[in-house]
Amino acid sequence: MPSWYETIIDEARLTAQTLLDRAENLASPTLRLGITGLSRAGKTVFTTALVHALMRGGRLPVFRAMHEGRIAGARLEPQPDDDVPRFDYEGHLATLVDERRWPDSTRRISELRLAIDYAPARGGRRMLTLDIVDYPGEWLLDLPLLEQDYAAFAAQSLRLARAPARQALAAPFLAELKATDPDAPADEATARRLAGLFTDYLAACRTETVSMSLLPPGRFLMPGDLEGSPALTFAPLDLDEGREPPSGSLHAMMKRRYDAYKDTIVRPFFRDHFARLDRQIVLIDVLAALNAGPAALADLESALDGILGAFRVGRNSWLEALFRHRIGKVLFAATKADHLHHTSHDPLEAILRRLVERALARAHSAGSEIDVVALAAVRATREAMVKRGRSHLPAIVGVPEAGQHGADAFDGLAEAAVFPGDLPEAPSALFDPGVGFSGLSDAQGGDFRFLRFRPPLVERNADGEALALPHIRLDRALEFLLGDRLK
Ligand code: GDP
Repeated sequence: MPSWYETIIDEARLTAQTLLDRAENLASPTLRLGITGLSRAGKTVFTTALVHALMRGGRLPVFRAMHEGRIAGARLEPQPDDDVPRFDYEGHLATLVDERRWPDSTRRISELRLAIDYAPARGGRRMLTLDIVDYPGEWLLDLPLLEQDYAAFAAQSLRLARAPARQALAAPFLAELKATDPDAPADEATARRLAGLFTDYLAACRTETVSMSLLPPGRFLMPGDLEGSPALTFAPLDLDEGREPPSGSLHAMMKRRYDAYKDTIVRPFFRDHFARLDRQIVLIDVLAALNAGPAALADLESALDGILGAFRVGRNSWLEALFRHRIGKVLFAATKADHLHHTSHDPLEAILRRLVERALARAHSAGSEIDVVALAAVRATREAMVKRGRSHLPAIVGVPEAGQHGADAFDGLAEAAVFPGDLPEAPSALFDPGVGFSGLSDAQGGDFRFLRFRPPLVERNADGEALALPHIRLDRALEFLLGDRLK
């Protein structure tokens, strides 16, 4: 199919959808909020905490509509899209509060509709319908693929795989590739073996100690409902530049599947979901990247470039049509700030701001209003001064999850105090080679950089319902994302 033809079809579909959205918007104002971030960034926890805060309130001084008592109530309503799974708010909240476990992470797109009943500052009564769409950030990083053919994708993927920080992890895949002739006859077993090894390499880049971010194609790590489907059974091949695939070859088969991946998976996602968002929060586990070291931080920066690319309007492209409905506000949030002492919250925010600004400077134009925040959607720790030798040092105290740290495994019941490493006041220090974040340590100096705490104990009312969840700066995120629509 020629690409202009696809553009027209996509545009027509998008226009129809936009008209539907607009008609609904006239009947009652609607805001579509996207919540994204790479796996484990904190999407499920954030979404649950956001909905809980809107429905139950809490200490949210910066979120003005709530603080001024203008939100009369918020309730869940049936969502607009029948073909998207519902975000399991009740289940996730029960896991957090009743079991004091973190809920299962986002694996696919899901949606939830909330009707917010509020009083505008000038008086009267209004209703804002908030549609929350939670989706894997890995999918967002697929956007550049739409403008890349298979040869370009293969060349770029292999360049990344051979970069110093990744080479060792990619070794089994690269060895298999060396033994593969792209001109050999197409063969399902070979395709599956290569796709499997390629996926293993991408997954190895995502482990806590490595913590890379830029790992397309996104569905290889987050397949949603498509696990094992042929559109995901391809891999980059080592091709001679400019060489056309002989028909019936492995090369031709990989190219066809790559094209199918773009046409049947990536484009529909951007058209049907991403292009309809009004606001977006991008959650980023900056601490994980800092802990893993300079290579992870550099990789995160490249991923941010990719994400910002999705928010700017491309010229003369299919994307231009797509982005006529533009995302007005984007918030980048560094999550899990409760792993740090409060004196490090501003520095954490400064590091993220620096990362985003560098990416923005590289982007030609950014149509959206952009801000950054360091937050903890659910605060699992408290602060205390702990005696160490003769001095008292600021520590964070929480219940570490059971079974971490091998021989000295925690039991998941007792509290432990850890001394979070200090983030440098000036973020520029982190961008010097060789300077990393020293991370959390305990009194004996053990390496607790990757420690996970259990969720906090939450107070309940007489009906057994959870009262406010503790958080850090969730109210700032709410004010930026929703405040102007609740004035
Ligand atoms: P998702 O993959 O983006 O949906 O990530 P989740 O929301 O499932 O979060 C992944 C993990 O990060 C959780 O299981 C928690 O261990 C941790 N986490 C997420 N948010 C917070 C937070 O606000 N505070 C703390 N201490 N941990 C968090």
